Parts: sequence; C-alpha cells; structure tokens
Amino acid sequence: MQKSIIVLDMVNYISNILLIRACNMYKRAALLNTKEFPLKLANYICSRWQNGSAPDIALTDPVTNEILATASSNGIDIASGLNYARTVGGTALRTLSYAERAELLGRIAELFATKRGEYFDISQKNSGATEGDASFDVDGAIYTIKTFARAGKTLGNARYLIDGATIPLAKTDVFQGQHYMVPLSGAAIFINAFNFPAWGLWEKAAPALLAGMPVFVKPATPTAWLAQRMVADVVEAGILPPGALSIICGSARDVLDHVQECDVVSFTGSAGVAAHVRAHPVVIANSVRVNIEADSVNSAILGPDGTQDTPVFNLLVKEVVREMTIKTGQKCTAIRRIMVPKAIATRLGEAIAAGLADYTVGNPRNPAVRVGPLVSTTQRDDALAGLARLKSECTVLFGGDSNFMSVDAEGSTAFLQPTLLYCDRGLAAEHVHDIEVFGPVATIVPYTDTAEAIAIIRRGKGSLVASVFSDDIDFTGTVTLGIADLHGRILVVDNAVGSGHTGHGNVVPTCLHGGGGRAGGGEELGGLRGLAFYHRRMVLQGPKTLIDAFKANGVDAVLLNA
Ligand code: NAP
Repeated sequence: MQKSIIVLDMVNYISNILLIRACNMYKRAALLNTKEFPLKLANYICSRWQNGSAPDIALTDPVTNEILATASSNGIDIASGLNYARTVGGTALRTLSYAERAELLGRIAELFATKRGEYFDISQKNSGATEGDASFDVDGAIYTIKTFARAGKTLGNARYLIDGATIPLAKTDVFQGQHYMVPLSGAAIFINAFNFPAWGLWEKAAPALLAGMPVFVKPATPTAWLAQRMVADVVEAGILPPGALSIICGSARDVLDHVQECDVVSFTGSAGVAAHVRAHPVVIANSVRVNIEADSVNSAILGPDGTQDTPVFNLLVKEVVREMTIKTGQKCTAIRRIMVPKAIATRLGEAIAAGLADYTVGNPRNPAVRVGPLVSTTQRDDALAGLARLKSECTVLFGGDSNFMSVDAEGSTAFLQPTLLYCDRGLAAEHVHDIEVFGPVATIVPYTDTAEAIAIIRRGKGSLVASVFSDDIDFTGTVTLGIADLHGRILVVDNAVGSGHTGHGNVVPTCLHGGGGRAGGGEELGGLRGLAFYHRRMVLQGPKTLIDAFKANGVDAVLLNA
C-alpha cells in the first residue's frame, strides 16, 4: 500500500515536471518564435515574461538593414523587479553553498554549449559577426562560466569567506577579532555595452551568482537579442532559483533611482554614460558600490631591439592586424596606438598594411569574409567622425576610404574599412591619445627613447591593457614599471613566449580585467578575486566561542588569490 502511494507520487511528480516543461516550451515559443514579426524581446522580471509598451526600439541586421527584433522596457515595474530579485532570488541563492552555486554555473555552461549554433546565428544577424567574432563572444562566455564553476567548487560548502588570521584583542584569547567577507544581500545590476552581448553578461554573472547575488541585467539595446535569448534558455531550463536572473531590454529607464545600499552596479560602456552612472544621486546617497569598465586608448609597444623581421617585430605585426580586425575592432581592449622606435616605423607600417590587405571585408555570410560591419550605421558614423579628427594630425598608411566597397553587402551603410594611421607628433598630438575610434582603426606613433615611449603611453590617461614586444628585459621591465599604475593588464611578449601568449585583447577569466583612469578604474574577473566585488568585508570582534562557530561555516579567503 505504502509502496504504491510512493509510486503514484512519483508518477504525479514526473508528469508535473513534464507539464511544466511543456508549458515553458509553449511560453517560450510564444515569446521567442512569436507570430508577430519582428520578434518582440520580452523583459523577464519577477519570474514573469512581460512586454514593454510602445514605442519599441528596433534591433537591426547591420548588413541587410532588416529589423530583426524590437525592445521596450516602458511600463515595466523596475522597482518591484529589483525587490523581487533581492528578496526571492538572493535569499534562495544564499541558502546554497559556494560549491552548490558553482554546480549551477556548470549546468548553465553545459546548456549554452548545446545552443552554441543558435547563438552564432543571432550574432551573425544582429552584430554582423563572422564565425570568429561570434566565437570570441559566445565561446568566451561559456569558457568564463566553466572557469568560475571549476574554481567555485574549491570553496566547498562554505557560506562566506574568512579573511586572514584571528586577531588577539585582549590579554587572554577570550576576546578576538576576525575579518570575514560576506555576500551582499542586494541585487547585482549590470548595464552592459553592445559589443559583447554574451561574454559581457556572463563574465559578470558568473562571479555574482557564485557569490550568491541575483543578477539584474540591462544589455545594450542594439544587440540585446543574444543576451535575452541566453537568459530565456536558462529560465526555461529551470537551472536557477526564481528571482536569480532578471533582464530588461530597452532603456535602463529609472533603474538607478531604485538602487539600495546592498546592491552593486557594474557598468560597461562609454566614459560619458559611466560618468552619469557614477554621479547618479541615489547611487551617491546610498553609497552603492559601482564598477566601471569604460573606453580606453590601449597601446602596443615595440622595443628598440625589434628591428625588421626579428621575431618580436613579426609577432607585433600579427597581433596588431588581429586586434584591428577581430570583431571589426569593436573591442574595449583593442590596440589603438602602436609605439615604435622612429627608425623602424616605416617598415612596421608597411608590414601591418600588408597584413590588413589579406582581409576581406563584407557580409559575414560569405565564407571568404574575415571582417564584418560595425554593429550599426550610427556606430559607423561615430567611427568616421573620430577618424576624421585623427586624420587631421595623421597620414593614412592603409584604408581610410569612406567609399570603399565591401563584399556582398550592397545597401549596407555600417562598414568601415580597416585603417592604419601614422602620427609623427608624439606627445604633441591632440586627438590620437584621446579619441577611441570604436572600429578597425589604429595609429603608429614613433618614439625616440624609452622615457618618451612611457610618456606617450601614459598620455592615454589609463588603459585596460598595454602589450610590450621586446627581447630586451631592461626595456620591458622599465616600461612595465613606468606604466603599471595606469593599466590593469600588461602583456609582455619576447622570443621565448613567441605565439604562445593569450593575446593583447583577449580577457582571460583567471586574470584581472579593468584599468585605471579613463578605462574606468574598475576591476573584474581575476579568477576568484572577482568575488570580492559581491562581498562586504567586515570584522567580527567578540568571544572566541562565537568566532570559532562562525569560522566553521566559512572558507579561507586566501583562495581568492589562487
Ligand atoms: P554606451 O553608449 O555608453 O552604452 C552602454 C550601456 O549604457 C548600454 O546598455 C546603454 O543602453 C546604457 N545607457 C545609456 N544611457 C544610459 C543612462 N542614461 N543610464 C543608464 N544606462 C544608460 O556604450 P556602448 O556604445 O554600448 O559601448 C561601446 C563603449 O563601451 C566603447 O567606448 C567601449 O570602449 C566600451 N566598452 C568597454 C568595455 C570594458 O570592459 N572596459 C567593454 C566593452 C565596451 P542603450 O543601449 O539602451 O542606450
């Protein structure tokens, strides 16, 4: 009798799950493959898919100009969405241990791996991405989530982090101090840039979820489709507890008006909008922690030993060409300035120009194409305006033709020819050190000695990354020390490293991403170090018995530095 009740319960349970799955599939079909055309991107708030009201913003294919989808957050109750994320999502996440949350991340990565092809398709349509570009974003996201899933496991069943040794505070050990890092009880609010709809979301979401914070994301509108699709897939798969993942598509509207003291805001985008986020009165009033990843005029530097056809010369040429072409130069980490000894500058310019000439620019559906369009005509117009200012103090070594013909893309106005410039004004240049043309554009700037090279790099006022190509350890050491305080990452390539490096523009999840000054002053990733942003450090001063009891549920924060 008892046995048959259990069997009956199990049958009910399984049929309920199947029913829920079927309903979810139906809902998703209604939401994502809707009969309406174009697709309307719904917002996922309070565990419900909700459509914003008119007017919608169109998401287009930059090659065909087709409207692919529309987005609107109008009328969505963002304040309630944030409260739901904090109270329902955050609470549920923090009933789990780090290792249990890491396991959820592993399941998300597995899910995404099965849907890679669909994501590549969306990337191609909405971002004009070549296969390589789509891989950079989508595979980069999957790899980053997997890295955090693996690292998170090492934190075991702990609920918070123990930071450092116990501190004696009295003559006997009866009263002690102990630092802890505890997960924040608010929402992790992400406002993201258009160029990495997949990686940009998950490089932040992986550490936030691992820390136990619910994610509330607002992707950049022009390319929000991929981010929204990934969120929809995670929701449909039922991997995360309700409230752990929310998305609004379209304007950020009043999101910053509702931020609270235990929330964090992580912004990626232009310096102008970053300043607005940082200075928002509610952000200031509630001392909300803000991380800014902004634009950057990153440098690559060739040492005086890098004469023509030396390995470091060739490695630099290869890296510059790759950086200018991958994602059509729409990477915050892309090389924008190339510092080179005066005597080598002409040969270097010729070598980079020859490399760029091998790249076919056009419709990414054509397999011969290696450089796609910019994400929109607006971006192309912005890039052309910046390029015009750079040209006022530079000569053009390659490209720069605003009427050039892209392959298989008649009618598109989103293309920009890869363009290499030369500026012999060094520190006196006005625009080269200030203007980030967000496209396939870089400028060679010759230097006379190491001190001038350092001064020119520093004139960028802070960057995400600089790379130094040289076999001269005195040169690489002096340059590194001369610029380290303004850079989040410095990549040094010599003959021994050869092509075995991870790439100037490639952000590795185990290493830090961020940069000083105009790069925003933020810090992301760096392996488990990335968890610090989502935790509050506090010290408990109290009886040894309480401190010992607390320690039993913690894990050593020393692992953050692993
Ligand atoms: P953006 O125009 O600054 O937009 C970034 C995000 O801010 C978008 O989601 C945008 O939404 C939102 N936004 C705009 N106005 C806002 C406001 N008043 N309040 C709140 N949010 C607002 O930047 P983008 O054009 O998308 O991205 C390109 C820039 O990002 C480049 O300069 C690049 O260097 C930088 N970037 C930096 C990194 C990094 O890690 N450091 C990475 C990628 C890109 P809408 O799309 O709806 O306007």
